[in-house]
Amino acid sequence: MTPVRLRALEILLEEHAAMGAYDVLARLNCEGLGSKPPLAYRALGFWVDQGFVHRIERLNAFIACAYPQDAHNLVFMICRCCGTVAEAQAQSGKFVQSAAQTGFQIEQTVIEPEGLCPSCQPQVQP
Ligand SMILES: [Zn+2]
Ligand SMILES: [Zn+2]
Repeated sequence: MTPVRLRALEILLEEHAAMGAYDVLARLNCEGLGSKPPLAYRALGFWVDQGFVHRIERLNAFIACAYPQDAHNLVFMICRCCGTVAEAQAQSGKFVQSAAQTGFQIEQTVIEPEGLCPSCQPQVQP
């Protein structure tokens, strides 16, 4: 385990937010671990392969997995206002059923619902 890999995961865990590879790289650079983009991509890719980090296609960003012990579908609720990302666990029963009917074999389901997080929803005045 290289220090860069370890720090890349720790940085994502500390932030509790989705981060671009360049944000992670900036932090690694600050700590004197390196400044070359492939360094960050390799470190993040390693954790993605291990299932500890997810890549959010829509944001082109990475986030530490909230449920690393469980095999799960990927559901990222993305706040369109502040950009906060929360991971949720969801069942894919219906997908699997309809896929089975067509003979399609699903390997992974990724859902990225967009909306407003609790702090961005309009407050109801008392
Ligand atoms: Zn996860
Ligand atoms: Zn928000």
